Parts: sequence; structure tokens; C-alpha cells
Amino acid sequence: MNYASIKSCDIANGPGVRVSLFVSGCTHHCKDCFNAEAWDFNYGEPFTDEVMDKLLRLLAPDYVRGITYLGGEPFDPRNQEGLLLLSRKIREHLPEKSIWAFTGYVYGGNLPIVPDVTDELLSALDVLVDGPFIAAQKNLSLRFRGSSNQRLIDMKKTRAAGEVILWDEAQ
Ligand code: SF4
Repeated sequence: MNYASIKSCDIANGPGVRVSLFVSGCTHHCKDCFNAEAWDFNYGEPFTDEVMDKLLRLLAPDYVRGITYLGGEPFDPRNQEGLLLLSRKIREHLPEKSIWAFTGYVYGGNLPIVPDVTDELLSALDVLVDGPFIAAQKNLSLRFRGSSNQRLIDMKKTRAAGEVILWDEAQ
């Protein structure tokens, strides 16, 4: 996996101060994409052990609430394994931090399932923001998403209940 960029202090992509990881590669090719240079899976830098260690260091301070995975497409089959390796490290060393991920795929719909990877990656997430941005459903008043078809899915509650439960936005 390659990644395009890291933000160490992001307040736009989830609650609180967060670290954001923008992975490279996306096949959705949405009209008006804000990040078209990252469609290329070779864009940016290789996602090495050193990069993971750097992310853990950035996440460590008390004022950082968690990390958010964006793209590109975090759930492209080519990107899931790298994010799983990172998620395991975060759960092992910094279990109190929340993990959010954005995807243009639909959970329970066309989200690609990679054997021995996807299920564990989903289980590591606190919130999955799913679905493509649809300009006709654009709504600027929504938190952390651009169009009303996109969902903030509480993954812990969803997996426990066996049905989609949305994240409580009052948090
Ligand atoms: S899913 Fe995101 S990165 Fe991919 S084309 Fe659409 S807006 Fe761009």
C-alpha cells in the first residue's frame, strides 16, 4: 500500500483532534473528486513499518482522540491489509483511541470482502462512514459527510446487533 499524506491535527474528519491517514488508490473516480491525484495506487510513499511507528507516536498524546482512514479508497482490496496491520498495532498499544474510516463503498452492499482481512479490519473500527458522495443529495449541514446517503455507522453496535446502527451524533 502507498499513502498520499498524513495530517497530525485534523478536526474535520471525526470527533475531536485526530490523526488522518490518506491512502493512495481509488477506482470510484467520482465527478468533482477533491483528491484526484490519489486515484493512482502508486501515488505518494510506501506504507512502511516506520510510517506505522510515526502514526503511533502522533496518536499517543492525550489530546488526540483517534485516527481516521481516508483516501483514495481505504477499502479497496489493495489497501485493506495495510490498514489492518496498522489497526492491530493501534488496538494493541493505544486501545483507548478511536478508529474511523471513510469508504465510497456501501457496507453490507458492494464493500469488497478480502478473506482473512476485511472482517478483522471492520471489527477494529469504531465508525465507518460509508457510501459515495452523491451531488444531488449534497447537504452542507451534515457532520463529517457531504451527502445524505452517507452513513456514520457505529461498527461495534452494528456487529453486536447484526444490523446497521448509526453512530450517536450527540457524542
Ligand atoms: S471515493 Fe473519494 S477519492 Fe475516490 S474518486 Fe470519489 S471522492 Fe475521489
